[in-house]
Amino acid sequence: MANTLKSDEMKKVYDELVAFTRSPLYEYRISNKGLPVIGEGSHDAKIIFVGEAPGKSEAMTGKPFCGAAGKFLSVLLESIGLHREQVYITNIVKDRPPENRDPTPEEIAHYAPLLDRQVKIIQPRVIATLGRHSMDYVMKRYDLDLEVVPIGQIHGQSFETVFFDDLNQCHPLTIVTLYHPAAALYNGGMRDTLKKDFEVLKKYI
Ligand code: URA
Repeated sequence: MANTLKSDEMKKVYDELVAFTRSPLYEYRISNKGLPVIGEGSHDAKIIFVGEAPGKSEAMTGKPFCGAAGKFLSVLLESIGLHREQVYITNIVKDRPPENRDPTPEEIAHYAPLLDRQVKIIQPRVIATLGRHSMDYVMKRYDLDLEVVPIGQIHGQSFETVFFDDLNQCHPLTIVTLYHPAAALYNGGMRDTLKKDFEVLKKYI
């Protein structure tokens, strides 16, 4: 897909998100003067990183992963020679849940079709999931249901699957399952685990 077409399609996704008045999180967004967070980065990225949902800093700026967890995500990317602009960073749920609680299954079901469309627009080689909610949704969405086990058992692993574009063309897709970078903010030992797990991505750069 040509780059201008990709930008036009992504703008349509953004416009729908802004007008998501029936979303379970719309009222909370408006009453807190928050912003929806569609995602950021290259529309030609080989790797899409998928987190869970925006937090306070993200809802204030409209940018994904711009708070403490996001700073560590940038460190992890740089540790394998990547800059944020070279990848695409987004979330399954695109509005902030109250008090940063986990997204509900209803919220995930509501926002996930937007992520599916972003994957079709960008056509990445790899989706790197950040955290268990993202892992759970993305693996099931791309027919890896049977591989889903607790993240402690499959962090840092890669799984081969495919996705179909709007013309029904089949594309190879690798899912890499990573811990959420916020895990390292509460448990220092996770920093090294995440750094080691990120190395898996090097072969797709
Ligand atoms: N945590 C997430 O899952 N996503 C963000 O954008 C920020 C923090």
